Amino acid sequence: MSCDMCDNKEIVSVVKIEGVEMTVCKDCSKFGTFIRPLNQTPVLKPRSHRQIKEPEVIEIVRDGTPAILKQKREQLGIDQAKLAAKMRIKLSAYNHYESGSAKPDLTTARILEQHLGVTLIKKEKVRQVELDHDDSPSMTIGDLIKKRK
Ligand SMILES: [Zn+2]
Repeated sequence: MSCDMCDNKEIVSVVKIEGVEMTVCKDCSKFGTFIRPLNQTPVLKPRSHRQIKEPEVIEIVRDGTPAILKQKREQLGIDQAKLAAKMRIKLSAYNHYESGSAKPDLTTARILEQHLGVTLIKKEKVRQVELDHDDSPSMTIGDLIKKRK
């Protein structure tokens, strides 16, 4: 693909010349009415850019944490008070974790994991679709032009 007006291979913009849209090099773009830079053609540029983005991995505390804690603690044959003291966690806090009325944060979950030899944290990929939603404030000029059409 080269300039519609000359043989220059470096096409930089889309211009309108005598009513006809042409993709032209920098020199020839002077002859027409500027429409848009070539790299913003509607050929899904903003979208393809987003798809390249790696899905984010986040760490979350498993939903089954209370059951895991209870089962493991009973296996070990110690009561909540002893376990909480061992981990330097408030008994009331530990009690919440085991009953499920509160979820340990990641730091606490790691302490629980270490002391009990269980896995409470799982890694989860944030789906691309959700990222796109959060992305809306950073819309590109290309997006805005498309919306107006
Ligand atoms: Zn040219």
